[in-house]
Amino acid sequence: MTRLRPAVLVHYHELALKRGNRPLFLRHLVRNLARATADLGPVALRQLSGRILLDLDGHPAPEAVRDRVTRVCGVSSAAIAWRVPSTVEAMKAVIARLIEGRSFASFRITARRAFKTYPLTSVELNRALGAFVLEHAATRVDLHRPELTIHVEVLPAETFVYLDKVPGPGGLPVGASGTVAALLSGGIDSPVAAWRLIKRGCRVLFVHFHSVPYLPATSQAKARALVERLTEWQYESRLLLVPFGEIQREVVLSVPPPARVVVYRRLMIRIAETLARRAGAQALVTGESLGQVASQTLANLARIDEAAGMPVFRPLIGTDKLEITGEAKRLGTFEISIEPDADCCTLFVPAHPATRMSAEEVAAVEARLDVARLVAQGADGAVTETFAFPGAGAPVA
Ligand code: ATP
Ligand code: MG
Repeated sequence: MTRLRPAVLVHYHELALKRGNRPLFLRHLVRNLARATADLGPVALRQLSGRILLDLDGHPAPEAVRDRVTRVCGVSSAAIAWRVPSTVEAMKAVIARLIEGRSFASFRITARRAFKTYPLTSVELNRALGAFVLEHAATRVDLHRPELTIHVEVLPAETFVYLDKVPGPGGLPVGASGTVAALLSGGIDSPVAAWRLIKRGCRVLFVHFHSVPYLPATSQAKARALVERLTEWQYESRLLLVPFGEIQREVVLSVPPPARVVVYRRLMIRIAETLARRAGAQALVTGESLGQVASQTLANLARIDEAAGMPVFRPLIGTDKLEITGEAKRLGTFEISIEPDADCCTLFVPAHPATRMSAEEVAAVEARLDVARLVAQGADGAVTETFAFPGAGAPVA
C-alpha cells in the first residue's frame, strides 16, 4: 500500500481577482505563510494554479500547520490534503483510506479539474468516485447538505484529495497594502480597529499614550498584551509608548474642562502623525464609533480630523458596541481589554465634555498652548518595543 503524503492546500479568493497585482500579492502571501509556520517544522511552499501548496511530507504536525495557515490574512480556506497520482484508481485508494472507520449518513464528491485536458470531466469523476464510496460505506449521496464532502482537485501533475476545509480570515496578505499607525488604548475598540486594517493587508504600527507616573503602568501592560495578540496576525510589530501625563497636565492648566477631551485627542493625533511619518506610515487608525461616547460626536470627530495631516481611518465608525465586542472575543483581545485599568483618558477628564465644539472654539483654546512643543515632547519621548510571532528564534523568510 502506498504511503499517504500530507500537504496543506491553501485557497485564496480576493487575490485571484487582482489581476495586475497578483504576483506581488502572492509573494506577500507565500512569505507570510512561511513566516507563520516557521517554528513548526520544515515546510516546502509551492505556487500552483490558483492555490498554494505546503508540502508536509515527513512533517511532525500537519494539523498545527493547517491551524496556523487559517489565521493568515489572504487565505480563504485551507485543508489537509493527500497527494496522489491523477488516476481514478489512485483516487479511489486514498478515499478508501480516508473514509475507513468513519461513519457519515450522507456525502458528496466535489471534484474539480484545474486543467481541461484531463480525460474525465468533473461530473464523470463525481459519479465514478461516488459509486465507489457507496460500495464501501453505508451512506447515501446528498448534494445539498452532505455530512461529509470529499474534495478532489485534479491538477496536471497530481491530484489532491481532502475532507475538511477550514475557513481562513480572507482579506489581503499583510504587507500588500502599506503601513498605518493605530492609536491603541487599552480598550475594546482600538485593537479591533487595528485588526481590520491588518486584515486589509496593512502593517500596523501601534501607538499608545500613557500617563505614568501620574497613573500606574497598567495601561502599558495591557497595550503590550494586546500587541502581542495582534502580532499573531502580522508576525512583527512595533509598539510606541508615548508619555502623555505631563502634556495633559499642561492642558489642564490652560484649557477649560469641557474642551479638554477634544484637545487631548487632537494632540494625540498630531503626535501619532509625527511618529507615523517617521516610520513611513501613511494613515492613522482609531477605534472610534459614531456617537459611542462624548468625544465621538460628528462635530468632535470633525475637530479631531482637522488636526490631522494624513487620513484618519475609523473602521468601526458604523459598528455597534455589541458587534465590536463579538469581534474582540473572536480575536482574543476582549479578555485583555476588560482588565481594569486607569487609561490616560480617565486622567484630568471633565464630567461633562463638550459634544459640539466649533473649529473656532477649539482654535481659541489651543492658542493658549504651545502645540508644536507639546507634540515634539510627546513624539521625542516615545519608547519603542518590538514583538515577534512566532516567538524569538524563528527564521524570517
Ligand atoms: P477604545 O475602546 O478603543 O478605548 P473608547 O470607546 O474608549 O475606545 P475613546 O476613549 O473616545 O473611545 O477613544 C477613541 C479612540 O482614541 C480609541 O479607539 C483609540 O484609537 C484612541 N485612544 C484613546 N485613548 C488612547 C490611548 N491612551 N492611547 C492610544 N490611543 C488612544
Ligand atoms: Mg478607551
